[in-house]
Amino acid sequence: MLLMKQLGKVFHTGEVSTHALREVDLEVQEGDFVSVTGPSGSGKTTFLNIAGLLEVASSGLFLLDGENVNQQSDSQRSKMRNQKIGFIFQSFNLIPELNLFDNVDVPLRYRGFDAKERKRRIEQQLELVGLASRMKHLPSQLSGGQQQRVAIARALATSPRFLLADEPTGNLDSQMAQSVMALLEDINRQGTTIIMVTHDHGLAQRAKRQILIKDGRVSELTATLHEPLHIVSPSATEHSAKVAG
Ligand code: ADP
Repeated sequence: MLLMKQLGKVFHTGEVSTHALREVDLEVQEGDFVSVTGPSGSGKTTFLNIAGLLEVASSGLFLLDGENVNQQSDSQRSKMRNQKIGFIFQSFNLIPELNLFDNVDVPLRYRGFDAKERKRRIEQQLELVGLASRMKHLPSQLSGGQQQRVAIARALATSPRFLLADEPTGNLDSQMAQSVMALLEDINRQGTTIIMVTHDHGLAQRAKRQILIKDGRVSELTATLHEPLHIVSPSATEHSAKVAG
């Protein structure tokens, strides 16, 4: 569903050119949970922004659900982004003046859902993240972990197939990080494809796949240490069969 071939991104600032991504080959299948790690400045955010249609690659091929993204107009890309992709960030990006209900309502209004459908979706999402009883609270009345849950509810309200997460636990203590990760795993089990940039290697290893970005180059890390049997286990074979089918 997401395919990158020899993808590159160069930023030109004055006379300086920065190769943020080089020759990226990557395939992400429906239902994947991919974690992305790598040193600071290695291209992780650029990768996520391109995958999320916020930025355009400089070279190579990028197919999203079979559509050649690099050849689309800005408005086609932005329509596709609104339909298919939800984002969450390290800093939550909630609107401080709006209560939880109205925060989750923002993308639904933007997409033009009617009032009844918006209410249904907001309640359903806040229920999913365990905050249905706090609808009238402001973000400042919540813990960091709860604020990230609201951001997740907002990102999922429009039923995107992809959730892209840029350091979603970066501002959270380890207990809250664990609980946000458990929520993301739950959401993935329910079918949303997730790509998550993280500095936390423990969390990265819990994803179904791990990729490393170093100097703009992407490499796949194989079996994680805590699940060494994954490569040969029947469930892995089953998964590949399902993916291939
Ligand atoms: P990471 O997320 O791994 O820290 P980034 O994707 O933010 O890395 O950055 C990769 C490289 O691209 C860095 O050298 C960074 O300075 C450069 N870069 C990122 N965005 C821009 C931009 N808008 N203009 C110029 N250079 C940029």
